[in-house]
Amino acid sequence: MKRTIRATGALAIAATMSLGAAGAVQAQDSETPSYGEFKSQTYQDPHDGQYIVNGDIPVQGEQALRDFYTKVTADPRTSLIVNTVYGKDDVWTAEQAKDLTYCVSDDFGGDHDKIAQAMEAGAGQWEAASSGVDFSHVASEDANCTTSNDAVLFSVEPVTGAQYIARAFFPSTEDSTRNVLVNTDQIFTSGWAPDDVLAHELGHSLGFRHEHTRPEAGTCFEDDNWRPLTPYDSSSIMHYPQCNGSDDDLSMTNMDRDGIKEVYGS
Ligand SMILES: [Zn+2]
Repeated sequence: MKRTIRATGALAIAATMSLGAAGAVQAQDSETPSYGEFKSQTYQDPHDGQYIVNGDIPVQGEQALRDFYTKVTADPRTSLIVNTVYGKDDVWTAEQAKDLTYCVSDDFGGDHDKIAQAMEAGAGQWEAASSGVDFSHVASEDANCTTSNDAVLFSVEPVTGAQYIARAFFPSTEDSTRNVLVNTDQIFTSGWAPDDVLAHELGHSLGFRHEHTRPEAGTCFEDDNWRPLTPYDSSSIMHYPQCNGSDDDLSMTNMDRDGIKEVYGS
């Protein structure tokens, strides 16, 4: 695991070990950096040019980054939680949730089978908690596994040299950027089990936010566009350990299992 490095100032960018290195935005001091300062500290993924905020969440384009900055600085403190968009839960319909198809790119080469197994195990953690969700690997699409492939809901693709271990998407993410990117430089050496890292990312893909944005964490605040599903859980799989988490591993908790039932059924 890497160490946490915090810049000073209101929007300190926590470059953490992480599922994401760059980007837990913190708005807890008095001085607010300019947009330019914020932008200069925000990691831009060399893979596709998206900005990475909150550790492992991609934001596409300058306007979206500016909107993100505006949102966070306008509301510095407002607490398993579900993402909301304009106040509405950002989740799959019951029908879609039972048909979450993905491919695992052949570009993983010698790591392909290990990644496919970790994806299956990570997905299995959520599937075991809720019969309302069903991920399935469509291996016949692995040779053509990109966001352009309409035969699957999302692609799982490798990157190298990124400042995160993996990154994901929310249900509201548009199809053209709906992928899970796995940094093969770090996925097997992060100190966390690859299964758990991918289960965390798939948590985002189901609509779940970082648990550490809740006020109880006291750090790593992101924004208020979410709704609580359970009481605060400092050892949630969606809680970065380095954000005052109570657990160094990234395993799923019983409260996580309760939380998914609230959205997708038992
Ligand atoms: Zn995350």
